[in-house]
Amino acid sequence: MGKAKTGFKVAFVGSECYPFVKTGGLGDVMYALPRALIREGCSVRVILPLYNCIPQKYKDQMKYVGSFMMDQTMEGRTFYVGIMEIEMEGVIYDFIDNREFFDWGNPYTGLWEDIPKYCYFSKAALAILNYMEWYPDVIHCHDWQAALVPLYLRTKFWNCPLKDSKSMLTIHNLRFQGICGIQHLKYWSGLPDGLFDYPVFKQNEDEANMFKGGLAYADAITTVSATYAQEIQTPEFGEHLDAHLRYHSVRMKGIVNGIDTEIWDSSTDKLLAAPYDVTDVLEKKWVNKEALREQLGLSRENGGKMVFGLVSRLTDQKGLDLVDAIFPQIMDGNTQVIVLGTGDPRYENAFRYYEDKYKGDVCAYISYNEALAHRIYAGADAFLVPSLFEPCGLTQLIAMRYGTVPVVRETGGLKDTVLPYDAEKNEGNGFTFDRYTPELLLKAVNEAKTLFFTDRPRWDAMVRRNMEKDVSWEQSAKQYLDFYKELKA
Ligand code: ADP
Repeated sequence: MGKAKTGFKVAFVGSECYPFVKTGGLGDVMYALPRALIREGCSVRVILPLYNCIPQKYKDQMKYVGSFMMDQTMEGRTFYVGIMEIEMEGVIYDFIDNREFFDWGNPYTGLWEDIPKYCYFSKAALAILNYMEWYPDVIHCHDWQAALVPLYLRTKFWNCPLKDSKSMLTIHNLRFQGICGIQHLKYWSGLPDGLFDYPVFKQNEDEANMFKGGLAYADAITTVSATYAQEIQTPEFGEHLDAHLRYHSVRMKGIVNGIDTEIWDSSTDKLLAAPYDVTDVLEKKWVNKEALREQLGLSRENGGKMVFGLVSRLTDQKGLDLVDAIFPQIMDGNTQVIVLGTGDPRYENAFRYYEDKYKGDVCAYISYNEALAHRIYAGADAFLVPSLFEPCGLTQLIAMRYGTVPVVRETGGLKDTVLPYDAEKNEGNGFTFDRYTPELLLKAVNEAKTLFFTDRPRWDAMVRRNMEKDVSWEQSAKQYLDFYKELKA
């Protein structure tokens, strides 16, 4: 049951949202935060592109709301904007329909095409709010794909009722910024020439940066953990925007993500061999582990082996070079490793190689597979997240929720959510390391193994502690709502 309506209206604008289209954590947040805000009494609309890759079953449920032509580009070319709508559990999803931009790709293709696509999308998002006469208190924009919304709001939409809306821009990952030649962005955005003369947009003499522009114009900036909010103000993590972010930091807050505890509920999870809760996790985890081994063709001869799971995009960000470097040392005859992910061929091939080398003890499942992800979270004993940087990270939260002990690097949200194990006090949620070196990852892995094999009661206590940790959206949604209210005050 939701609370009484606060009357507070929020529009979410972003490029992906589970269950329609998701490539990473952004898709999860776009799904879960609106639902959590509804529970806090807000009205929420989520604005998304109508990509071709959205499953037909959702397209079949969409209702046509209306359409109009919108001018875009420096030349004022006009483009069709259709609005297709679904309501799901109190959240209204408005999809922007334009085949020219959204009929291909899954959903991203390459920056050259993505820049026009998201210029159009950002402007159309405001245009449909205007068309529907739904004027939100806050327009909450996500990542570079929606970063032009604050600029359109204060330029092209300055004299319509939307002008009273405040804009918030959330940084989910600063690595991707939407950088292109100034002329390309000037042409496709159709934004006033003058904006391009100032540091607002300029990356350098030739290039413009959409994220940079959005951060300068947004009424508020958030990012997905307090530690990442600090880190991105340093040259090491700032992706060349650290000075810009330091300048705008008075408007910036870090609010850690949660996970959707209905989707990620081990006691009702139909994908598991044996659903469980904190009271029977120890027996049931064993059943799930055996089922997982069987499904993936891992050896079940020495049943007592410790299973490490890793579910991730296989990119440099995720610290996989560290895993690669110590893989042979992890494989000690008592350990099994399951990797689920796709991405950089370098890592895909490395994990395939280890699967072959350590037959029966390593599985490299090179694909995107939601169902298997659930089974790994449930069946693994420990979970690796040794990221180079991690704005928030969801996998460690899911792992904890499923009673799996994370081994993480102390960066971004990993640092904020995984308390290091303290043997003296018998506290903590997992094993952590600070500097980005293979030796320290190996040390953390070995500490996890030592506790697992030599002090099972303490390990089991950590499993239970992790399952009971609050990783839901409730607290974070409250913090967002407070920040929205601050903006409107
Ligand atoms: P990022 O957004 O950087 O990819 P997050 O940890 O924030 O990382 O979110 C990753 C999300 O994507 C999690 O829900 C995780 O379970 C899911 N995920 C990542 N790779 C896969 C995969 N190969 N198969 C299924 N789910 C995956």
